[in-house]
Amino acid sequence: MTRIVYVNGDYLPEDAARVSVFDRGFLFADAVYEVTSVLGGRLIDFDGHAARLERSLGELGMPMPMPRDSLLAVHRDLVARNSIEDGLIYLQVTRGAADRDFAYPDADTPQTVVLFTQAKPGLADTPAAREGIRVVSLPDLRWGRRDIKTVQLLYPSMAKMEARARGADDAWMIEDGAVTEGTSNNAYIVKDGRIVTRGLGHEILSGITRAAVLRLAREAQMQIEERPFTLDEARAADEAFVTSASAFVLPVIEIDGAAVGGGTPGPVARRLREIYIDESRRAAL
Ligand code: PLP
Repeated sequence: MTRIVYVNGDYLPEDAARVSVFDRGFLFADAVYEVTSVLGGRLIDFDGHAARLERSLGELGMPMPMPRDSLLAVHRDLVARNSIEDGLIYLQVTRGAADRDFAYPDADTPQTVVLFTQAKPGLADTPAAREGIRVVSLPDLRWGRRDIKTVQLLYPSMAKMEARARGADDAWMIEDGAVTEGTSNNAYIVKDGRIVTRGLGHEILSGITRAAVLRLAREAQMQIEERPFTLDEARAADEAFVTSASAFVLPVIEIDGAAVGGGTPGPVARRLREIYIDESRRAAL
């Protein structure tokens, strides 16, 4: 079955979809994106992703390309047209196509809006979730506005490759002696029953999964500290884990080759994953 993608109002077979070579997303990474999970054919945390999209666009002086209801309708349409049971929807909005110039084009330049699906059968039960992942630490060399979800992803991509080259699955990035986040996820440790994760700011992305997991953890009477933590603290932690829309909650079992806790997925990460997936399925749209 040919995948159907959405480009600027049209639903097209992927081979027929086109974006201009002058698109500012292509030339300047002048674009933002969102990734929303689909479980059982329904969207996880759609409202959170739509709200963050609006914020990212606003920080770059761009409006929402369409009302939230229409965006939801396009997401649902793509899920149906591609028969997605479990998978992801990628959405990208750029400032549009214009003659190449560092200055932004006129505000009436039409934005480019692209959405496509990725089928991921068994998304909620992956080997990484069962066995945990290994991370290495690398310096955080990204720009200073990581709270805006731009498509400027070259450094996270390089960090992911370096992690692979070192036999690991992902990297935790370090700035001023503290962990910021993973290449495409938020980072946490657990010590003496307390969950520690960096507070929000320009240094990290405000994860939609992070917000949901922290809310659910509080509801389950777990103790949470939102503050920077060091690599030494992470190495001495009882548990570590990451969260993201595409992977939910993933245990981290090794940092820079040293086992975290017992070197196997810990009970807090396992429980949070279970609670998050159950609650997300219940609230899915
Ligand atoms: N941090 C970074 C740098 C990310 O790229 C992502 C997701 O892509 C996250 C955190 C997790 O955010 P979310 O839970 O909204 O997927």
